[in-house]
Amino acid sequence: MKVSVVKNILAANDRIAQENRELFDRNGVFAINLMSSPGAGKTSLLEAMGRDLGQRLRIAVIEGDIQSTLDAERVAAAGLLAVQIETAGACHLDANMVRSSLNDLDLAALDLLVVENVGNLVCPAEFTVGEHRKAMLLSVTEGEDKPLKYPLMFQESQALLISKIDLLPYVRCDLEKLKAAARTVNPGIRIFAVSTYTGEGLGEWHNWLLEQVGHP
Ligand code: MG
Ligand code: ZN
Repeated sequence: MKVSVVKNILAANDRIAQENRELFDRNGVFAINLMSSPGAGKTSLLEAMGRDLGQRLRIAVIEGDIQSTLDAERVAAAGLLAVQIETAGACHLDANMVRSSLNDLDLAALDLLVVENVGNLVCPAEFTVGEHRKAMLLSVTEGEDKPLKYPLMFQESQALLISKIDLLPYVRCDLEKLKAAARTVNPGIRIFAVSTYTGEGLGEWHNWLLEQVGHP
């Protein structure tokens, strides 16, 4: 019984996600679902994207948080259009929540829409929201074993940003071991080692994004 209920929920989600995807395609918007644990640096990454890509791409962000509008305020201050979804306790975004927030955006006036998912390394990976690509962050403070312990998000994502690499001298994290663990669960994943504090690695990530937006 329980299994079939879960299946039905996911099937309903997939239908709405498909409609979202068609809406994005009709309007020429490339959509990314950005996921990670809380505090890995999703919002800081968006601030950097606003600074470095804001002149080349028209970017909007849907901010998913359990509570508060803090992240929407931060990315708006970085020059990005921002819509906040407060999930009132839900620990991930689903396609229906994203669809309701699309009314607040002029999709035809956008090139890139980033859905910043609720900070959570588990269930956001189970729900597609209509995105063209999934990208995730894992900070070097979280430990190099995480791809093996929480494989689904790593398997579902096309890109992994290893964040906070400026902290590598101070934490016990073997970058090569971490990359190898990620490739064990997803051999094709693109990996970017970045620091939004020093700016290291961001150029590569931004070039990849520009390439993806040009060739959905
Ligand atoms: Mg955030
Ligand atoms: Zn959840």
